[in-house]
Amino acid sequence: MEIIVLIKQIHDPTRLRVSSQGRLVTAGVPLIINPDDLRALKEALKLKDSLGARVTVLSLGPPEAEEALREALAMGADRAYLLSDPAFADPDALATTYALGSAIHKIGTPDLILAGQLSGHGTSAQVGPRLAEYLGYPQVTNVSALEIDNGSVLAKRVLEESYLEVEVALPAVVTVNSAANLPRLPHGARIMNAYQDPPGSERFAVWTAQDLDLEPQKVGAAGSATQIRATTVPEPKGPPEMLTGSPQEQARALVGRLRAKNLV
Ligand SMILES: Cc1cc2nc3c(=O)[nH]c(=O)nc-3n(C[C@H](O)[C@H](O)[C@H](O)COP(=O)(O)OP(=O)(O)OC[C@H]3O[C@@H](n4cnc5c(N)ncnc54)[C@H](O)[C@@H]3O)c2cc1C
Repeated sequence: MEIIVLIKQIHDPTRLRVSSQGRLVTAGVPLIINPDDLRALKEALKLKDSLGARVTVLSLGPPEAEEALREALAMGADRAYLLSDPAFADPDALATTYALGSAIHKIGTPDLILAGQLSGHGTSAQVGPRLAEYLGYPQVTNVSALEIDNGSVLAKRVLEESYLEVEVALPAVVTVNSAANLPRLPHGARIMNAYQDPPGSERFAVWTAQDLDLEPQKVGAAGSATQIRATTVPEPKGPPEMLTGSPQEQARALVGRLRAKNLV
């Protein structure tokens, strides 16, 4: 069984700062694997343990994204593909899907594609469904549990106050949410092993737009139907109101405030 896991490298959202001009500051902020992608990877590694699946990780990003893929190899992935090229810069979900979809055709169509429900960058939750459309695969999104049975994936989707159990024939695209599991940690010997294969080797391939024979007007900012005009941060609402008195008095005052705003 062949599984491809999409890995996006993002700036650690817990370390992002806002400049005095109200702009998001990413300089110096550590780069991490998108949290939902860690859950997707864990689901793939569980299928590797139980079914002997081969796990391939795939990322579109700047050269620094190599580190995210090395981390995924250290967790147990078998091989990695990095799509990196200045032409890929500033993509929206459409341009990202085109590049990832083309790479998946070149890698060879897998039995299962696992992605995160959403990335901590654009948070559009679009790439998974768009990729399914691009490849002509069925899709199941916002999944918190999955298993493979007899050529199908059985997935549990989170709804408002209930679960939906979905069965879909493979090959398929499944997006995994943050409630699915606890990520697997990089493992001793695998960490060393993960850095052995140089970029461009069979186990760690790096592809450009030319390697994928992509149309220049369909990648990066040129191929994006949406452009980010500005990233602004909401005005801070002033210091919080501190309630005083006994716990009962504070609770009564809080309920009063909430009632005044029709929140309860
Ligand atoms: C407000 C905003 C800020 C942005 N900031 C940045 C930024 O700082 N740096 C930057 O590179 N891009 C940035 N982008 C661009 C955005 O990350 C890309 O357009 C992205 O490829 C798709 O959008 P998304 O982040 O909404 O992904 P989503 O659709 O939310 O991602 C869902 C899943 O798709 C997969 N996926 C998404 N992108 C990739 C990828 N590139 N490689 C592999 N798998 C992927 C992952 O599994 C991810 O969990 C930003 C976009 C917006 C709207």
